[in-house]
Amino acid sequence: MENKIKLHDKHFVPYISNEEIMKAIDKVAEKVNKDFEGSSEVPLVLCVLNGAIPFTSEVLLRFKFNCELMSVKLSSYQGTKSTGTVLTALGLTTDVKGRSIIVCEDIVDTGNTIVALKEMLLDKGAKDVKICTMLLKPDVYDKDVVLDYVGMEIPNAFIVGFGLDYDELGRNYKDIYVIE
Ligand code: 5GP
Repeated sequence: MENKIKLHDKHFVPYISNEEIMKAIDKVAEKVNKDFEGSSEVPLVLCVLNGAIPFTSEVLLRFKFNCELMSVKLSSYQGTKSTGTVLTALGLTTDVKGRSIIVCEDIVDTGNTIVALKEMLLDKGAKDVKICTMLLKPDVYDKDVVLDYVGMEIPNAFIVGFGLDYDELGRNYKDIYVIE
């Protein structure tokens, strides 16, 4: 792991190693497999772009059931702060009516993104929406939506790496770093 990284004007220090991330993903995938293995349904795995790309690709390869993959782009973050408004940048390209969906997120913070997305999917007729997130900030999350699969809980700090960015930089690091 790099000692310290600099993205734009800020420094970040090592926080969660790739090894720990992989262990958390193993556990999450195990839980998802318990719910979906042997089921006759073919769920849609929905990757929330761009941050959830590395997490979705890792967790997807551990799924032992037939599934489809789809992506959606939403964002509520600007720089290091949540704006509170969820913007849709790239919408759904598949009909979700009657489908079971497994939403894959990098991190749930305020929960605005996940709440808006779940609402949108149910409005479009999805039968069931499960939330699968690599990370959760439980001290910030204040919504009622059940988070079905959570990889790791972290305190309220701004992190980057493994898909997570600071103004588009930092997504490519295999470990997770926290703001200094
Ligand atoms: P929420 O809508 O739950 O407040 O925020 C979810 C989204 O905000 C995540 O998908 C992620 O893109 C971004 N986000 C939340 N916390 C962090 C963080 O600590 N670091 C980074 N880089 N992005 C975050």
